[in-house]
Amino acid sequence: MLALEVREKLRQEIKQKGLKPRLAVVLVGDNEASQIYVRNKRKAAEDIELECEVHHLPAESTFEQVADLVKSLNANPKVNGIIVQMPLPQHLHSDKILRLIDERKDVDGFGLHNAGLLMQNQPSAMVAATPKGVLEMLRSTGIQLAGKHAVIIGRSNIVGRPLAALLLNQDCTVTVVHTLTKNIAEITKQADIVVAACGCPKLVKASWVKDGAVVIDVGINRLDNHLCGDVDFDEVAPKAAFISPVPGGVGPMTIAMLLENTVEACEQQMKGAK
Ligand code: NAD
Repeated sequence: MLALEVREKLRQEIKQKGLKPRLAVVLVGDNEASQIYVRNKRKAAEDIELECEVHHLPAESTFEQVADLVKSLNANPKVNGIIVQMPLPQHLHSDKILRLIDERKDVDGFGLHNAGLLMQNQPSAMVAATPKGVLEMLRSTGIQLAGKHAVIIGRSNIVGRPLAALLLNQDCTVTVVHTLTKNIAEITKQADIVVAACGCPKLVKASWVKDGAVVIDVGINRLDNHLCGDVDFDEVAPKAAFISPVPGGVGPMTIAMLLENTVEACEQQMKGAK
């Protein structure tokens, strides 16, 4: 599996270069899904000898308490990467918290600085892990990206928008569709690449996809006590040249890319300290 290959590559890199990367995770409250995501990130990090410290604060923490923690992690030279697990309780204004993270440690790439660099196609951008993982998956299929029509379903700041910039930077022709788009199926049917990131279980049907399209499913939804994506896998798979499964597709790649960003941040910070 691609994510395992990336993690193995990172493990070797950490060993060979003598790096001591450290990721700090800020988790606020008791959201069950968030706790599972954080546990998975910590386990994946520890598997490659990347230290991961989890700071678990109570749901009723004030903005100042969370902000102070982020600032202290910014100032800690042992910490190379910081993520704040979303969603935060509503009173904490996640946008304002995310903006406090030092841009050199912003390994989720959600801050304005890194989002702006990505928008302007600057190679120094720290790219959000999920879109970065989607690009790696597309590359692994061998598809030539330049000139291809990619349709992205969803325009969130953490998936749809950065992915649109990333694919545009690869010379794709990019269309982003969303809740107010009319005739979505007409648009996705024209796509060489369809990326579904809308959080609607099995929304994308066989009739939405042209023969031979590459389909990447970002969605993670719970339906009848099972996990499923935003694509109706059983219907679409026979038509697609490649389709990513849920679970086991974009999810593990997202974690692998988060670790990659942390290792890169560690290297950059070591260079900066010399
Ligand atoms: P979000 O709710 O922030 O954004 C969803 C977007 O989809 C919105 O822009 C909305 O306009 C659009 N949308 C919603 N319903 C639609 C519809 N019926 N037709 C067209 N567009 C529609 O969600 P998000 O944070 O971007 O996450 C999207 C999905 O991806 C969720 O299932 C989430 O769990 C999953 N996700 C997975 C990973 C991963 O690592 N695999 C990472 C992030 C998000």
